Parts: sequence; structure tokens; C-alpha cells
Amino acid sequence: MRKIEHIGIAVKDMQAATQIYSALLGYAHYKTEEVLGEGVNTAFFTCGESKIELLEATNQDSAIAKFIAKKGEGVHHIAFAVDDIKAEVQRLEKQGFVVLNQEPKMGADNKWVVFLHPKSSNGVLVELCQERN
Ligand code: ZN
Repeated sequence: MRKIEHIGIAVKDMQAATQIYSALLGYAHYKTEEVLGEGVNTAFFTCGESKIELLEATNQDSAIAKFIAKKGEGVHHIAFAVDDIKAEVQRLEKQGFVVLNQEPKMGADNKWVVFLHPKSSNGVLVELCQERN
């Protein structure tokens, strides 16, 4: 793992949340992007080498809608940057981690992403992400 690429935060109202995080960080988000396959709107803020990703559900079947219904708003996942996502998936499976999607899928912000089940990482949903070139 190279660094914490971003921390994903589930929010109910993207407009309100971007205002709060702009006030917190002292600057605006640098992009918004809808990820159709995941049913989410995202907004990204940089913070040093890492980012904050705000996630808002665009439909009730979205994982973010289900997360908020169950747990409320808050930290949803931690994403680690990796150089070779397939090699990392193999390495982590050997260590006993439960991989939610074997095949990397297209995530927000030009990334290939794989998720690990929270049950294998102390209740934290882990995302691996590799830059798409
Ligand atoms: Zn993410």
C-alpha cells in the first residue's frame, strides 16, 4: 500500500456536505462526479497527499443509501493507493481477507477499485485503488 488515497464519507445531502467540508478544509472541492454503476454522486477535496471523497446516494438501492439507513452519515471506507491492484488482491486473499469484487471495477476519479469486506478488517470497509492510465 502506498498511501491513504482517500477517506470516503457517506452524506445525505451533497450540497450541504460540500459546504461543511469547504468550511472545514478552507477550500472548495476540485471535482464532482457521478458513478452510475454505484448509484452515487461524489465530490473530492484534496488534503495533502490524500483526499476526502463525499458520497451521496442517487437511488435507494445504492450501497450508500443502505449504509446511511443502517448507520447514519459518517466514515464509509478507507481507500489505499496501490500500484498493482491484481497482485494486491492475490496477496490479501492469501492473508484471509474477503474480497468483494475479484475483478477491479471502474471507480470515481479515474481509478480501478476493489473492495474488501469489513468483516475481515475490523469493521472497516477497505478500498484498494489503482490509477487508470
Ligand atoms: Zn472511495
